[in-house]
Amino acid sequence: MAMTVFRTLAEWRMIKPASGSLGVVPTMGALHAGHISLVERALNENKYVVATVYVNPTQFNNASDLAAYPQTFDDDCAMLEQAGCQFVFAPTYETLYPDQYRYRISETEISRVLEGEYRPGHFDGMLTVVLKLLNVIGADVAYFGEKDFQQLLLVREMLHAFQHPTRIAACPTVREADGLAMSSRNRRLNPAQRALATEWSRTLANLSLSCQEARDRLERLGFRVDYIEERWGRRLGAVHTPQVASGVEIRLIDNVALPR
Ligand code: AMP
Repeated sequence: MAMTVFRTLAEWRMIKPASGSLGVVPTMGALHAGHISLVERALNENKYVVATVYVNPTQFNNASDLAAYPQTFDDDCAMLEQAGCQFVFAPTYETLYPDQYRYRISETEISRVLEGEYRPGHFDGMLTVVLKLLNVIGADVAYFGEKDFQQLLLVREMLHAFQHPTRIAACPTVREADGLAMSSRNRRLNPAQRALATEWSRTLANLSLSCQEARDRLERLGFRVDYIEERWGRRLGAVHTPQVASGVEIRLIDNVALPR
């Protein structure tokens, strides 16, 4: 079956399969093997899969981060088609935000710490767009990565809070050979920063260090550390790479499971 790209709810109503289980994989594009692992799992567990590709402006708390976010739609579609994905939802702002973002979802506990503390408004934008996307698609299961662990928790509890019929499935983090978690932002690392990024993932995963020792080590290497903390059975961290070799600072996040 050839892959179909659609941009509106009206189009989806015409082409949505009448029967057979449906999985959805929300993404912001700039796809890599981590995203494709979600699509593959969704295809294993469902007859049909919709990937959504939308760089959601309301979850960027920083205009330059939004402007620099990589957009590679044609390559994304090629990767999705190759993986066997049948549908791609690539909406416009007008389709998703007829209200110009007057209405929004706000969570008052989990969203206030870690990423929420360093990226004010980020989780309101993320939860709002995820709810809209899931409402439009009407899938049985939505696939989210553990790479963004706080996001996964927030989406899971939002779906529960709103009696949403879509179930959520959590998928493990896919890593590069040296352990760096795959991320669309990794494309923006220059070679010197990419080499340092290996130390970032190794240090975070080294649970023989305390959180403070991990932070000290990263700072000695030149990283600016937002947080290294343990919550929800994970060690989670966020850092900015140094601006080595005229690169700009790139923010990286990751988390690892703590032993039970
Ligand atoms: P993004 O395009 O960054 O918004 O990510 C879309 C989805 O892919 C989210 O559920 C992410 O958690 C997931 N994801 C991103 N990177 C990875 C990775 N390295 N391994 C597994 N899932 C990932």
